[in-house]
Amino acid sequence: MDAKRKPHLVLVPFMAQGHMIPAVDMASLLAVAGTDVTFITTPVNAARIRPAIDRVESAGLSIRFVEINFPTAEAGLPAGLENIDLITSADQFLPFMESLSFLKKGLKLHLLEANPAPDCIIFDSLSSWAADVAQSLGLPHLIFYGPSCFFILCSILLKRSQVLDTIADDSETFVIPGLPQTIEVTKAQVERWLDGPEWEKVREEIYAADASADGVLINTFNELETWCLEILAKEKGKKVWPIGPLCLYNKDVESRATRGKASSIDTQLLLSWLDDKETGSVFYVSFGSLSRNTLLQLVEIGLGLEAAKGAPFIWVVKEAEEGSEAARWIDDFEERTKERGMVIRGWAPQAVILWHPAVGGFMTHCGWNSTLEAVSAGVPMVTWPRFGDQFLNERLVVDVLKVGVAVGAKVPTLFMKEISAEAPVKGEDVKKAVERLMGSGEEAEERRARAKEYGEKARRAMEDGGSSVENLKQIIHYATVSPKNKVKSDGYIY
Ligand code: UDP
Repeated sequence: MDAKRKPHLVLVPFMAQGHMIPAVDMASLLAVAGTDVTFITTPVNAARIRPAIDRVESAGLSIRFVEINFPTAEAGLPAGLENIDLITSADQFLPFMESLSFLKKGLKLHLLEANPAPDCIIFDSLSSWAADVAQSLGLPHLIFYGPSCFFILCSILLKRSQVLDTIADDSETFVIPGLPQTIEVTKAQVERWLDGPEWEKVREEIYAADASADGVLINTFNELETWCLEILAKEKGKKVWPIGPLCLYNKDVESRATRGKASSIDTQLLLSWLDDKETGSVFYVSFGSLSRNTLLQLVEIGLGLEAAKGAPFIWVVKEAEEGSEAARWIDDFEERTKERGMVIRGWAPQAVILWHPAVGGFMTHCGWNSTLEAVSAGVPMVTWPRFGDQFLNERLVVDVLKVGVAVGAKVPTLFMKEISAEAPVKGEDVKKAVERLMGSGEEAEERRARAKEYGEKARRAMEDGGSSVENLKQIIHYATVSPKNKVKSDGYIY
């Protein structure tokens, strides 16, 4: 690499809100640390993250958002279906994942012509197609994992031990083998969408990309998942760099308000509502970008929030945008509770809410970004996992870190699959969990103190000299000195 120019890193995120949001933060941190960054996206996704792109541009960061055309029609998908949260039925999920390989050609052409030439590709663990491109160009490539280290480690241990094959009953609890702490789960809670026979091709590509990567980046920090990171590095046999919490790149209200999609609520209105409340008194309820509740379940959540003593609340209700019955019920609920509660229909500026000092508790589906945002803000959680990595994240929050109270969800409500007409969690469960978390007893105070301590450690990890900032520097160094960065036989110089 020409010593006079900045390192050029290419980020290839997976097309889902929970993956693109931390990728924009990572791109910003890399640019601030002195690199040129190319952020690979598609036209629909670029339009959706416009507020974040505008923010990057006005900050003068050296990040180029490059749109690669995504030919969804070739995969038989509706035009514009370029993000997981735009999927409307379960049978679109597999074709969506398979069609991602159509992006290879566009990325390769772009990289061959890029000036300055790329030094390293950082690809999301679900964007395995990008690892193929990196290999075909002989480029160093690092894998970025969106989930917690705890989840990644448990997945490796479960796969290797084949313990799931020995369990007949989906609801029987068992201990995850090989962890230094006893962690109990059921088979249903840890089975993965990738495991079905129809997923074999996608699964093998993901594993192959993972194995080919030169190193591993994770959105976590050393002081949060210390033993998990140590064991994972041994398991992987390559460098593992925790570089988070990436959300802490955003230090002011404006940047916190422009993460993900455009917000459905005026930030000033939200702030003045929060400013009126006592420190640590507000309970925040949101289930991420993909999870949806049935109307019956919404009613139970609402009844639980109404019955819980005291706490003012903010409830993000995506379902109100999508179903008229839910919308009507929510209108009535909002009217009844307007003295105490605020309902946000659609997309909430979650980082603005979690970092406001009035917020003292968060009911979350345990998506890793939401969980890490709460940890970073020092806010304890009521955990209500739905699918994917979320049940294991719950175990990390409740059993390992001890900063959460489980609402008591036992059975997954699978992404885009029909779920039972019954509401799995009752209003009474919601009420009890909220009161336990927000209460003033010794247990609640200790939990709050622990949450605050992790919040402080998270901030230190992302300050100058902090563990994650140092790791980011090592990654940039790696990208520039990797033995793969040499003149190739086709004359293409990195
Ligand atoms: N998010 C947000 N507003 C919303 C819903 C979600 O800002 O109304 C953000 C949230 O802060 C997090 C991401 O979207 O950064 C969701 O990622 P997570 O891993 O928590 O869950 P997923 O949506 O992938 O299930």
